[in-house]
Amino acid sequence: MPSHYHRTDRISWRRWLSFGDDTAFADAGASGELLIAQVRVGITTLLLLIPAYNLALAPLQENVVGFGIAVAALVLAVLVLLIVKNIPSRGWVGLATTALDVSIVSLALCIFLILGTPHTAVNSRVVFDVYFLAIAATCLRYDRRLCLLSGALAILQYGAISLYATSHWELNSATFSPFRYGMFEWSTQVSRFILLFVASVLSMTIVVRAQQLRKVSIVDPLTGVLNRGFFDERMSEEMSRADRYGHPLSIAFIDIDRFKGFNDSYGHSAGDAALRTIATTLKNSVRRSDLVARYGGEEFVILLPETPSHIAEEKLESIRRSVSATVVMLPRQMTPVRLTFSAGVASAPDDGKEMDDLLHSADVRLFEAKRSGRDRVVGPDGVVGQAKPDSPHAGVAK
Ligand code: GH3
Ligand code: MG
Ligand code: MG
Repeated sequence: MPSHYHRTDRISWRRWLSFGDDTAFADAGASGELLIAQVRVGITTLLLLIPAYNLALAPLQENVVGFGIAVAALVLAVLVLLIVKNIPSRGWVGLATTALDVSIVSLALCIFLILGTPHTAVNSRVVFDVYFLAIAATCLRYDRRLCLLSGALAILQYGAISLYATSHWELNSATFSPFRYGMFEWSTQVSRFILLFVASVLSMTIVVRAQQLRKVSIVDPLTGVLNRGFFDERMSEEMSRADRYGHPLSIAFIDIDRFKGFNDSYGHSAGDAALRTIATTLKNSVRRSDLVARYGGEEFVILLPETPSHIAEEKLESIRRSVSATVVMLPRQMTPVRLTFSAGVASAPDDGKEMDDLLHSADVRLFEAKRSGRDRVVGPDGVVGQAKPDSPHAGVAK
């Protein structure tokens, strides 16, 4: 594997605690959140059957309370499902629902304290184990900070419940005999804290590993920009979004000029270094919401959402100028070397609403840019800026 992959294995604490800016993970997290919301509605519906059955058998006050709590939990779960369906991909939704799931388990344990049965709260198996379901579910949100949060909250809240129980009751006194849920022991409580901590670390590790694997599958290993497969996936999503909201969207095909000659003059590894430099310049020249991908050997593509053609043309022209001014550092090469590129710009909806139409128009304009002399950007109205003579240095400029 290329050496830069090894870097991802060494994770610093700052990276562990950062969100990461992979939109694919935001999307996966949003659909995970939706799945969790649906499962939550399913589980609360099932849980409603128990107090409903108890209430049907005996209309006691505690059964009415139990039924009321179960109905409230179901209403809350349906409410969260509606929010998640209508406001996807928002950081605070994951934060709120993670806290909600853990707190519901703690609330269920608190009810045992309120009912005066503290041993059920501190020694129960079934309710306590739901903490692990809540912690495991955070993996589906693809955010390691939420994994950490769920574990920390569970430990804090459960710790408070244990402390409350020990400070309010003489838990091992004969009044609680015959101890249906067992006697109170701090060693058991400590092992529970450790298990919650381990579960939280495991779920974080799963998310980090998934992110590493995802990165390998979407990033071009040579240049570090997105690869073609992921670009096509994202472009089709962006095109349907633009079509749905009637917003413009532009793409640009970029092809480095006379790159074969560059390889022949300076060698293949110098060519690789040049590709990396250009990819970095492209990436640093666009907004975070724009996508830069390596589409083929020395071809790149840029997707500019919410951008009409005249703005995209201006942007590409300014990138063209900055790339032609960028010096490529080559080992054992004393004179500075520069490269130029040609680009074709196409925009939706004017050039079509389908991905293939847009890619085709951009490709035709790229061909036109090459044919008319290279080192230029061609948009819907021809060459951007004033008419240029054939560039004698297109490709390698010293
Ligand atoms: P034009 O201005 O018409 O685009 O000329 P060109 O020489 O750039 O075009 P052509 O398609 O003939 O050559 C592309 C070259 O890009 C061929 C190949 O040697 C080089 N290339 C493709 N992928 C890589 C790569 O990963 N590393 C290096 N160093 N070179 C590559
Ligand atoms: Mg080419
Ligand atoms: Mg080329």
